[in-house]
Amino acid sequence: MQSENEKDLIKFVPFNSCINPSFWFELNKVKLDDYMLNDDFKDLKGFCSTCSSNNLPPILNFDYSSFKKNVDKTKIGHENVIIVEGQIKIFNTINEFNLLDKNKLIDEFGQTIWNDIKSTKALDDPNRLNRFCLIVFANLKNYVFHYWFAFPALTFPLKSYYQLRKTKFLDYFSMEQSELILENMDRFQLNFKSHQSFFAINFETLDVFSVREGVNLHNCGKKVLFGLYDPNSQSNHPGWPLRNYLALLALKCKKTEYETRNFEIVLFRDRYHGGERKSNLSLIIEVEIFNISENEEKINTIGWERNEKSQLHPRIVNMSGSMNTEKLAESAVSLNLKLMKWRIAPDINLEIIRNQRCLLLGSGTLGCNVARCLMAWGVEHITFVDNSKVSYSNPVRQSLFVFQDSIGGESKENHKSIKAAENLKLIYPGVDANGIVLSIPMPGHYVGENIRSKVKNDVKQLEKLIKEHDCIFLLMDTRESRWLPTVISASEKKLVINSALGFDSYLVMRHGVKTGDIEKDKLPTNFHPDQKISSNHLGCYFCNDIVAPGNSTIDRTLDQQCTVSRPGLSMIASALAVELFANVMQHPLRQYVPSICSNHKLDDTKESCLGIVPHQIRGYLHSFSMILPASQAFDKCTACSIEILETYKREGFDFLIKVFNDPNYLEDVTGLKELKAALDEAEFDLVSGLSDSDDS
Ligand SMILES: [Zn+2]
Repeated sequence: MQSENEKDLIKFVPFNSCINPSFWFELNKVKLDDYMLNDDFKDLKGFCSTCSSNNLPPILNFDYSSFKKNVDKTKIGHENVIIVEGQIKIFNTINEFNLLDKNKLIDEFGQTIWNDIKSTKALDDPNRLNRFCLIVFANLKNYVFHYWFAFPALTFPLKSYYQLRKTKFLDYFSMEQSELILENMDRFQLNFKSHQSFFAINFETLDVFSVREGVNLHNCGKKVLFGLYDPNSQSNHPGWPLRNYLALLALKCKKTEYETRNFEIVLFRDRYHGGERKSNLSLIIEVEIFNISENEEKINTIGWERNEKSQLHPRIVNMSGSMNTEKLAESAVSLNLKLMKWRIAPDINLEIIRNQRCLLLGSGTLGCNVARCLMAWGVEHITFVDNSKVSYSNPVRQSLFVFQDSIGGESKENHKSIKAAENLKLIYPGVDANGIVLSIPMPGHYVGENIRSKVKNDVKQLEKLIKEHDCIFLLMDTRESRWLPTVISASEKKLVINSALGFDSYLVMRHGVKTGDIEKDKLPTNFHPDQKISSNHLGCYFCNDIVAPGNSTIDRTLDQQCTVSRPGLSMIASALAVELFANVMQHPLRQYVPSICSNHKLDDTKESCLGIVPHQIRGYLHSFSMILPASQAFDKCTACSIEILETYKREGFDFLIKVFNDPNYLEDVTGLKELKAALDEAEFDLVSGLSDSDDS
């Protein structure tokens, strides 16, 4: 049995770390987004309180706000929350974590505290005596964390602290005195931005002072009680913070002729119970402390926290179970992308890609693959538009469908756009995918009176969809179905990424985007092939078919070719379409980025952090080759010329229906006599519908 008044070695009750799951999620985030490969020590905050229940050791709490730079104590909810400043080091490999010299590390922290004590830093800000350090290895892929806390405390070999006497605060002081002390204490705390852990009481006046003033009073011969907010509520022993506090007092308080001195220490355990303030756990202990000098040769630092088995080993926590699976998927998806920022592309802006609302016109092979690739880039908002249904032959080539989707044929709701959106969400529930069943009206597809209002609604819906999205992907299988979205997107100044397939050749291009200022958008007459072409002078799909660049034997227009493609072609073209989109997004001018010409040396060109932003990518599987032509807009283009856009703006649906019913009408508008021949070649009546062929 421990006697209350014998001379006992003081047992300091060590801190216990208590980590809220939000701490680990925040750690995951800051490591990925902010610290990245940097494994320097960073500031971290822990919170402790004197308000715990009876018989609990000191607990240092950590949550998401531990990483915040400024934590306002008034926001923490209770006045008695003490903010403990510490540092965290997050290792990049488990090996470094394991091989770290733990004794050396804690000695360094101890040395800092000792230096603070020797200088005036600890007297000026005694909260510095309370410190901690945390080392972590975070396995960000599966949310497993190896970690170890240290609460550094100074020890002086062969010199010990003894506890002589212990008195309850409420026995030591009368009721009136203790009430006065509480009042003075509250007034004292008001002087500080953050809650003070340490204080001093003038025994005569019961005024509460800072430790510095207490030491001065003491050294002038006044009786002073030194106090601390004791986070420990186990009645017999003081909490861990007293240890460094005694070292400060031993050094800074005037020495006597004796080897040791006695101090009265207030273990202030102010707490609220049932809405009432209680001091019944507070104690006053008399301690015997030895003299120490600034030249102490041997100082040890202790304080590594023991693990659950009371061993001096790190702890391991696995947080994967406490996250819901969708949340897990969400952070796992962004993990691979964020890792790009660590070394490969530190300047990449993933947010801007993620926030693009993408409209995919066509949900066939191109639509499916583009969607998957966009999702891999983290794009969260994807809308599919198509009017056809999943057929038996689709799933093997169209990567978002399975056999089950094609069963039921015409009788069931198995529209491609709806199925594609559903299945995309099966792959990743965090994606906001929607499917719209819509036929896109086309030039040369006659609109009779009986369907006029339906077609008008379809146009309206398409206009609305294009307005609501940031990037429009043209992924249909016919040339003429691209005309209307090209006109509307050009009018809305949206980025258009167009992808089209031949049998073994593909085209991926971005359309030029006009500024809307007719003077600026007028095509320059003195175009030089070595200059970049500004975006408002770049051509669209329809410009380029008329002025196809390069070798005419390999640059055949796609619609002259068979719509059956080599199976790998769609994956290549879809991937390139999305990667082109990504490069556009990384350029500060976005859709207004000019294009280099084929004459430019590509090696010299650093346009975005991901590389160049070409106008067109044309590839040929028979020779496994790729070219990057750029071409100016055609001033008589049937889709993007100023005349067409102005007429569309002025006349709206009345203009469009004339085009649907007679594509030759475009000739009148643009004044392009040769158009008829060009459009005849297109053989508009070959296939109708968006992507009713199996392979687009
Ligand atoms: Zn054009």
